Amino acid sequence: MVVDDVRNGLLIDGSWRDSREQIEVLDPAHETVIAVVADAGIDEGLDAVAAAHAAGPAWAARAPRQRGEILRSAFELMSRRADALAELIVRENGKALRDARAEAAYAAEFFRWYAEEAVRNEGALATSPSGDNRILVVHQPVGVAVLVTPWNFPAAMATRKIGPALAAGCTTVLKPASAAPLTALAIGALLEEAGVPPGVVNVLPSSSSGAVVSAMLHDARVRKLSFTGSTEVGRVLLREAADCVVDCSMELGGNAPFIVFADADLDAALAGAMVAKMRNGGEACTAANRFYVEAPIADEFSRMLAGAMADLTVGPGLEPGVDVGPLVNAATRDKVAELVEWALDDGAEVLTGGRAPDRVGYFYEPTVLTQVSPTARILGEEIFGPVAPVVAFEDVDTMVAQANDTEHGLVAYVYTRDLGRGLAVSEALESGMVGLNRGLVSDPAAPFGGVKQSGIGREGGHEGMLEFLESKYIAVDW
Ligand code: NAP
Repeated sequence: MVVDDVRNGLLIDGSWRDSREQIEVLDPAHETVIAVVADAGIDEGLDAVAAAHAAGPAWAARAPRQRGEILRSAFELMSRRADALAELIVRENGKALRDARAEAAYAAEFFRWYAEEAVRNEGALATSPSGDNRILVVHQPVGVAVLVTPWNFPAAMATRKIGPALAAGCTTVLKPASAAPLTALAIGALLEEAGVPPGVVNVLPSSSSGAVVSAMLHDARVRKLSFTGSTEVGRVLLREAADCVVDCSMELGGNAPFIVFADADLDAALAGAMVAKMRNGGEACTAANRFYVEAPIADEFSRMLAGAMADLTVGPGLEPGVDVGPLVNAATRDKVAELVEWALDDGAEVLTGGRAPDRVGYFYEPTVLTQVSPTARILGEEIFGPVAPVVAFEDVDTMVAQANDTEHGLVAYVYTRDLGRGLAVSEALESGMVGLNRGLVSDPAAPFGGVKQSGIGREGGHEGMLEFLESKYIAVDW
């Protein structure tokens, strides 16, 4: 699917609409405009809510099996077009083609998983403790759901919300990030083709995201917000959602510690570190952000990591052999560069990388920083780029306290051959997910999400559909 094949209007109630304003989409590898798409304002946002609201009862009344079969068709269509979708992701997001292919496959899996979950909306029946009546619990669709997604996984973050919403019987308005709207529009068209009726999925790129989402959250027809993005914006939206008491699922920022004990299989730890750090060039909420390595192996592991990072080929994501594409835009690249400067000011040393190459595109070299002090400011920030700061540790309790000393709590990684210690440390870490001897946790069948200021609720797994369902209790006297 080349860029020109993507419908560039707003998908509202099954029609593709033009708009007065437009959004320019940039190719981050070449700093060129590759497309313009329609730019929704408040009126279009409320039209989309009206369409979703009108389509709601019929969609909720469809047999779960039918909803599941439509999602299954979406999975099959997306799998057939995975290569084209991956190319589109690279063009607007910049990531290397291998990462984009992995994302396209991962994104399609959410449609398959929720095709299977659609028929597993189970309730409960109990006898009340007094024996006087029965307690019947059914799960009903929460209603119109506003879905707001980031640019870093433009396909997977959309399908991770649309899949469970549709399986549950909800109708949706998807607002993708303005930096990467093409993939969302392509998914909207694909869902139409798969048989999703008009109004069930509406797709609205908007450069005035604050005003448009706020208007939707203040429309009483909207009953759900599912947001993935930064903690900063998440806080704003929780406040907005409070006015109409809208149910919120929030997937927010991370600051993942990656812990390597001296007894770990170092080759496995290195392979895991490269996945955890470099998937998407470091632009992932799950990215390893701080490496805590036990002192006896800290130098050796840092050298191994630096060697692997230096071997990566940096370049435009579609070029053959490229491992790491550009960052999404100049601001992101400049923030990464600034964080490295902070680290150097705080006493760190560069083992490899440490600069933005002098070329067109928002590139930054894969970087390993060593001699990082546990109090260095870089450890308190979500780097969102290809930079690995390594801290040596001696005492486990002190290291766990340092790992937990952050407002975030999305994911952590632990490498050790001692399973008892691995599980004890996994329990002590304040995070919603742990990769134990594994550098990748994302799985459509597992509950993904964070604690503390990394989020509220879970996506994926059985839990993901519950986020779009309300429990209704019926007291029954039979
Ligand atoms: P972001 O700036 O928070 O934007 C996310 C989405 O919110 C975009 O669609 C954006 O639209 C929209 N938005 C921005 N300001 C808004 C406002 N005031 N009201 C309503 N919507 C608003 O995040 P990002 O830079 O795209 O993504 C990176 C962040 O996402 C990182 O912090 C990362 O950790 C997090 N993330 C978390 C997960 C997870 O599952 N926990 C997964 C992926 C990413 P515009 O693009 O138009 O501004």
